[in-house]
Amino acid sequence: MIATPAWPPQSTPRLYVEEPLAAGAAVRLVGGQAHYLGGVMRTKAGDPVKLFDGVTGEWLAVAETVGKRELTLVVTERLRAPEAVPDLWLIAAPLKKGRIDWLAEKACELGVARLALVETRRTVVDRVNLDRLRAHMIEAAEQCGRVAVPELREPARLPALLRDWDPARTLYFADETGGVPALAAMRERAGSAAILIGPEGGFTAEERDAIRAQPGAVGVSLGPRILRADTAAASAVSLWMAAAGDWRDG
Ligand code: SAM
Repeated sequence: MIATPAWPPQSTPRLYVEEPLAAGAAVRLVGGQAHYLGGVMRTKAGDPVKLFDGVTGEWLAVAETVGKRELTLVVTERLRAPEAVPDLWLIAAPLKKGRIDWLAEKACELGVARLALVETRRTVVDRVNLDRLRAHMIEAAEQCGRVAVPELREPARLPALLRDWDPARTLYFADETGGVPALAAMRERAGSAAILIGPEGGFTAEERDAIRAQPGAVGVSLGPRILRADTAAASAVSLWMAAAGDWRDG
């Protein structure tokens, strides 16, 4: 029996668009996206393209016109419903360019709902290019099959973050000086959560005390070694996804 080839084919390019998608909608792509489809993926009129807008799910579109600098696509049908995003926030102190880009990419791939930056006493990076971070998260979502892009929050100062904290959301504070083994702590608690990761220089003793005094905060350990902040972030999020997130569903 001849197997019917999957439609759209596995290799169909996948792009995020800002505008809300719906069946019959016309989508005009220019700039980098037009170059990617026309120049890199050699998309021709009639070819399929997968699109997602972060809200309504993933859609199938067909290329209508393909020009050097512009493409138009027509949306035909919805392929996937919006994803059930695990209710996890990653809160991290800004890191140097390469590391914070990596962290943003991994946060998106691993499934967080929000990436928020926090300024602490030992934060050495004074400016973060949020547009660049968002572009990294969009690219990660396009590649890993997400139909949502994590929300990105600009830096807040630690005291303000703690002052406005909703104690109903568990705050897992990654503390290299010691705490409850992270996996055990995460298995014991259900519901909305956040993971707080310090800067390369770590939190000050006063900051640690202030965080630990916060209702809903749990100091957790990620093992006996001092991890780089980006490593700590990726491993803590992975543990939460396995203990309380959507990795439990396999
Ligand atoms: N200042 C610290 C030092 O040099 O001793 C190291 C800070 S570490 C590079 C950056 C952040 O990663 C820490 O603030 C903490 O949030 C997290 N982290 C690193 N290793 C950890 C561990 N073993 N357990 C819990 N959190 C850890």
